[in-house]
Amino acid sequence: MKHLTIVGGGWAGLAAAVRATDLGWQVRLLEAAPALGGRARRIHHQGLVLDNGPHLLIGAYTHTLALMQKLGLDTERLFWRMPLNLRNPQGIGLELPDLPAPWNLLWGVAGANALDWRDKLALLGVATRWQRAGFVCTPGMSVVELCAGLRPRVLSHLIEPLCVSALNTPMDQACATVFLRVLRDALYSGPGSADFLLPRSDMSALLPDAALTWLRAHGAHVELGQHQKICPTAQHAGDAVLLACPAWEAARLTQTVNPDWSAQAAQLSHQGIATVYLRRPLSSEGHGPAHEQGHAVLPRPMLALDSGPKAPAQFVFDRGALSGDPAQRGILAAVVSACQGEREHVTPLVRAQIENQLGLPDLQVITTVVERRATFSCTPGLVRPGARIGPGLWACGDHVQGPYPATLEGAVRSGLEVVDQLTQG
Ligand SMILES: Cc1cc2nc3c(=O)[nH]c(=O)nc-3n(C[C@H](O)[C@H](O)[C@H](O)COP(=O)(O)OP(=O)(O)OC[C@H]3O[C@@H](n4cnc5c(N)ncnc54)[C@H](O)[C@@H]3O)c2cc1C
Repeated sequence: MKHLTIVGGGWAGLAAAVRATDLGWQVRLLEAAPALGGRARRIHHQGLVLDNGPHLLIGAYTHTLALMQKLGLDTERLFWRMPLNLRNPQGIGLELPDLPAPWNLLWGVAGANALDWRDKLALLGVATRWQRAGFVCTPGMSVVELCAGLRPRVLSHLIEPLCVSALNTPMDQACATVFLRVLRDALYSGPGSADFLLPRSDMSALLPDAALTWLRAHGAHVELGQHQKICPTAQHAGDAVLLACPAWEAARLTQTVNPDWSAQAAQLSHQGIATVYLRRPLSSEGHGPAHEQGHAVLPRPMLALDSGPKAPAQFVFDRGALSGDPAQRGILAAVVSACQGEREHVTPLVRAQIENQLGLPDLQVITTVVERRATFSCTPGLVRPGARIGPGLWACGDHVQGPYPATLEGAVRSGLEVVDQLTQG
């Protein structure tokens, strides 16, 4: 039996471990942290179960959903599914009806109430051009350049929220090629591909817990608290090592093994994400229609927000409505994508933003989680490191060359694909 050592138990490493075990490798997975999941995992705070950051999946995450099903998870029950909806509390923004493409887009744009008919025609014209060109554009273009001809309010109400939620990079710095690829897959991968899938559970229950159980049941060795300070080497011919740790760690581990690969991984810059957890005092009642047993605070379990320098959050999730768990009742998670600010600066701004925009007074701050290196900056012309580092040494993760920005689907696909490659030699 050939041995595969995997360094890192985030979603990429877990996907790789499951695929390799299935293909007959003897897998040893070494994870530095006391728990699996990497950037998409549960955290505990003062007796509460929260996430390192709430995640939004879409129907086009086919590999991630298939992996969950393979692990025995019921993806229908795990998610709150709703058609793409980027409307703010005032109802401004894009909402796609539950129709097949391109009718969903036509209907959604026609109903975008902040736009006049010239904006709508311009947007549909641009979208038609993108589709005719096969969702491919000149390499090196930014999203703002791609959208030249659209007026500022179209950019701010429609393009910017889509871009920041998908690429976690502001649209003037974001790669148009990747943006178009995400749009293509979201809009044209079949019914429901653009749907939002909002996790009802914490992020560890969404995949890492089940992966750990499955891997151990299938003979893989999973070792937690094993921070690798030097790059492991393959012991026998045919064995392999897979670095499934983030770019900066993979760069450090490969400095002497393959300096060029290491330099390419090290040059990636990153964007932060901050999550401000707030709680509506438990004595108050939810002000919107109750989704589940009166646990809802918001009119929908996820709302887009009007954002700007003084109101930095773009989205807010209602954890009580999503989970139906009394312990989560009244807990809101407000997300600041492409976050530059410090915790002390961001927290009061977000609290005031939610209070003002949603009319929810007296919110208590539970905690703010700041991930400084949440995703790589998905900039035009970016060259990402490849999966092959050297003989018997491979890499996977959301940062490794691939069509997607730093997402769960990008991580999972990378983990699955690298195992197919290293199995072929
Ligand atoms: C706050 C936040 C919100 C996000 N929101 C979304 C979203 O809504 N939708 C979406 O699709 N994506 C989202 N993402 C991105 C998504 O979480 C990542 O793309 C994905 O989790 C990356 O997985 P990975 O396995 O490539 O890397 P990681 O999750 O970083 O996993 C790497 C693992 O390697 C381990 N490790 C590191 N160094 C070593 C070492 N030396 N030895 C052993 N182990 C090591 C780490 O502990 C970690 O467990 C978000 C990310 C964050 C941080």
